[in-house]
Amino acid sequence: MNFLLLGAPGSGKGSQAELLEKEYGIVQVSTGDLLRDAVSNNTDIGIKAKDNMERGELVRDELVLKLLSERIKKHDCDSGVIFDGFPRNIEQTKLLENLLKERGKKLNLVVNIDVPFDIIISRLSSRRVCRGCGKGYNMISNPPKGENCDSCGGEIIIRDDDKEDVVRNRLDVYDKNTKPLIAHYSQKGIMINMNGVGKIADIYEELTKYIKEKKVP
Ligand code: AMP
Repeated sequence: MNFLLLGAPGSGKGSQAELLEKEYGIVQVSTGDLLRDAVSNNTDIGIKAKDNMERGELVRDELVLKLLSERIKKHDCDSGVIFDGFPRNIEQTKLLENLLKERGKKLNLVVNIDVPFDIIISRLSSRRVCRGCGKGYNMISNPPKGENCDSCGGEIIIRDDDKEDVVRNRLDVYDKNTKPLIAHYSQKGIMINMNGVGKIADIYEELTKYIKEKKVP
C-alpha cells in the first residue's frame, strides 16, 4: 500500500503519517528528513541542498530523487510507503510515478490535508522537533511530557526553516509549485480531501474510515 500525503508545511502530514505507520505497518519516507540528514552528515547532496533549504526554496529535483530512490530500495519499504514531502512540483509527480512503476507499484491513495495559511503560521511557530530522532512536537497541541524527547531523550529544538520569514517563503513556494498537484491527483481519481483543522486523532479517524469504506487499495 502506497500513500502520498499532500499539504502545505505544517498541515499535519507528519502526525498523520506517524499514526498510519503504526496501523498499517508501512514506513513514512519524508524527503525533508532525508535532506536534513544529508545536511547534518555533510554529504555531497547535503552540501548542495543546504542553501536552498535554509531559504525555504525547493532543492533541485535530481538531488531529492537520488535520496528518495536510494531510500525506497531498502527492505522496510517493501510492504508500502507513506510519501511525505515528495512530489512537490509537477515534474516530481512523473519522477515518483516512474520510480514506483520500476518496482511494479503505484500510488493507492493521495491524502490532501487542507489548512488555512494563517493557522499554519501559528502552528509552525509552536512546532518543535527532536534533534536526535526527528520526532515532531507542537508546544500547544502535542507537547513532549518533559523537557526532552519522549522517544529518545534527545534535545528538542526549533527547525531553522520554521522561523517566520522562512515559513512565509515556504508557503509561497507551496502555493506556486505544490498546490497544482491537488488538481493533478484529483483528476486521477485517487485523492481524498481532508480538513486538516482539528484534533490529530479526529482527522486520523476520518481518514481511516475512508480507507476502510473504500477498501483502499
Ligand atoms: P519539509 O520537511 O518537507 O518541509 O522539507 C524541508 C525542506 O527540504 C523544504 O523547504 C525544501 O527546501 C526541501 N525539500 C523537501 N522535499 C523536497 C522536494 N520534494 N523537492 C525539493 N525540495 C524539497
